[in-house]
Amino acid sequence: MERLCEADFPDIRENYGIIRENIDKAMALANRRDEVRIMAVTKTVPPERVNFAVELGVKLLGENRVQEYLEKRDSYAKAEVHFIGGLQTNKVKYIIDKVSMIHSVDSVRLAEEIDRRAAQHGRIMDILAEINIGEEETKGGISAEKAKDFCGEISRFENVRLRGLMTIPPAGCGEEVFARMQELFETIKASQNGGLFDMLSMGMSGDYQAAVKYGATIVRIGSALFGQRKYAIH
Ligand SMILES: *Cc1c(COP(=O)(O)O)cnc(C)c1O
Repeated sequence: MERLCEADFPDIRENYGIIRENIDKAMALANRRDEVRIMAVTKTVPPERVNFAVELGVKLLGENRVQEYLEKRDSYAKAEVHFIGGLQTNKVKYIIDKVSMIHSVDSVRLAEEIDRRAAQHGRIMDILAEINIGEEETKGGISAEKAKDFCGEISRFENVRLRGLMTIPPAGCGEEVFARMQELFETIKASQNGGLFDMLSMGMSGDYQAAVKYGATIVRIGSALFGQRKYAIH
């Protein structure tokens, strides 16, 4: 295999092996035969380290901040990129042609702006509805109670395609939140007559095995892959 970079990062190599093993185990325990995608969450991580993960086989990157992504993307190896951070409507135009999915759609206004910008680029943008499953006041996302109506509303835009749900559960709150997300996902999927509703983005460094148990199709992993961040941002 052609080397993308000279550097070797044994920590990332080891971490990636552990993560894959843990996911395989969780899949087997849950009797799942479908697939889980591992997203490498790149916030604060230098491009050389991101590229090493890509070289190891990571095919999907998760970006939190528009500015940081725009600064780093020219240095990235080829990989699919999803936007997963809080997104202001006035920033949509900077990323609309640079990502293949937006996980953090939490208002009709944001979906409307994504629709408008996607139309300008002659494309259809895949999106996920962000659910605030822990009902935390400090977090973005739609409450579980309003989720179905919200999904109905944002499904009507022509240039966005609602593919599923995403959540960032409260820290250390156990498996029930994932079980609740799975239930919500299945309910809404059943109400999306015929649409492609197949993505459940949940599980981070501390809880991805539990998320896999409850049907996650994308796990978003930062620190368990790249190491502890010096400062915490979401
Ligand atoms: C930072 C972040 C992650 C990854 O967090 P870790 O705990 O480092 O794995 C996942 N999703 C979102 C939205 C994030 O901001």
